[in-house]
Amino acid sequence: MKKITRRYFNRRLSEGLLGTAVLAHAPLACAMGGKEGQGRSLGIALVGLGSYSTYQLAPALQNTKHCHLAGIVTGSRAKEQVWASKYNIETKNIYNYQNFDTIANNEDIDIVYVVLPNSMHAEFSIRAAKAGKHVICEKPMGISVAECDAIIEACKIAGVKLGMGYRLHSEPYTQEIKRYVKEKTFGEVSYIMAEAAYRSNGNPAQWRLNKALSGGGALVNMGVYSIQSSIYGTGENPVSVTAQEFSTRPDYFKETDETITAQFEFPGGATGSIFTSHNANANSLYASCNKGWFSLKPANNYGPLAGETSRGPIQFPHESQQKLQMDDFASHILYGTENRAPGEMGKRDMIIVEAIYQSIAEGNRKIALDLGKMGLVSESN
Ligand code: NAD
Repeated sequence: MKKITRRYFNRRLSEGLLGTAVLAHAPLACAMGGKEGQGRSLGIALVGLGSYSTYQLAPALQNTKHCHLAGIVTGSRAKEQVWASKYNIETKNIYNYQNFDTIANNEDIDIVYVVLPNSMHAEFSIRAAKAGKHVICEKPMGISVAECDAIIEACKIAGVKLGMGYRLHSEPYTQEIKRYVKEKTFGEVSYIMAEAAYRSNGNPAQWRLNKALSGGGALVNMGVYSIQSSIYGTGENPVSVTAQEFSTRPDYFKETDETITAQFEFPGGATGSIFTSHNANANSLYASCNKGWFSLKPANNYGPLAGETSRGPIQFPHESQQKLQMDDFASHILYGTENRAPGEMGKRDMIIVEAIYQSIAEGNRKIALDLGKMGLVSESN
């Protein structure tokens, strides 16, 4: 009989292909018990131990139910020691950027979470997929649509799951907005406004201001949130975009965009307006509908978010968004539940990002988009 390795078992389980095999080999499945199936916690390796991994993801992984922090990938020997002692990480689960590919042989690691500068997302997501690991890729998915395609293809070929680090899809206020849209609680959306911006004063040498590493400025960093909320706030992909760029601090923003506004047309007739900037603070979502309105302010920080509708305020208890997001992805792998932020969603947003830059480059010309339902339909087994 073919030896069923843990990786094979997980892969088949995640593909929904184990049903009959499990029945046929029930004693084997039982023998694998909690470690392999129901109740198992998946091991995550964080790649890149910068601010987001340090202050959000690693603390969140102390409270997750379906996954845990099992490994790290870093270019810093000092961080290896600090993280190993703080989080009790075994030496065999610590990698650098050079020996990372040998993670393929490490059965403690099921998921690789890529938390590097944007231009490194594609390389490490693809290397992770080739190593047979499921992948979570931070936003923006890459620095071009071509990179997004390459990541999606690599994950498909390897038979691994791919999720975006779009934490808000696991967050209760955002889920409530999606419910309003689906159930038409306030009727049809006729106008959506989304802002995502912060004022940057930091080190001018930071990678976010370096186009080769970031792929762009405010738009790729914060604008993806306003693109996202325009889409889940209407339930549709835009059919056109027209965009404008503004620059007031060219000495600081030498290579990357400072402020961008854009207007969307949606197939159902709604219009949308987004604002993103590295030169101002803004964080909101507002939708005007034919039977009322709904809004979130703040709409996209780490929470707690706050919401109000034409029927009154909405309130949900606060939980770490990153905890909810990583548990949702692990649960998708283990139990075939919804992949709330599949790779296709990251690619769709990058198509819109490229169209916005194209509109600006071509004198604010309206750019037609042909996205169909891309990224709107969640994946499950
Ligand atoms: P950061 O600058 O704090 O960390 C980046 C890490 O990458 C550092 O550990 C750095 O050492 C490492 N690195 C490796 N090669 C590098 C290079 N050539 N240049 C610079 N750094 C290099 O950044 P961050 O805020 O942790 O962001 C990392 C990623 O996470 C980005 O893609 C960002 O968009 C994303 N992010 C997502 C969220 C979210 O809410 N989903 C929040 C913050 C950041």
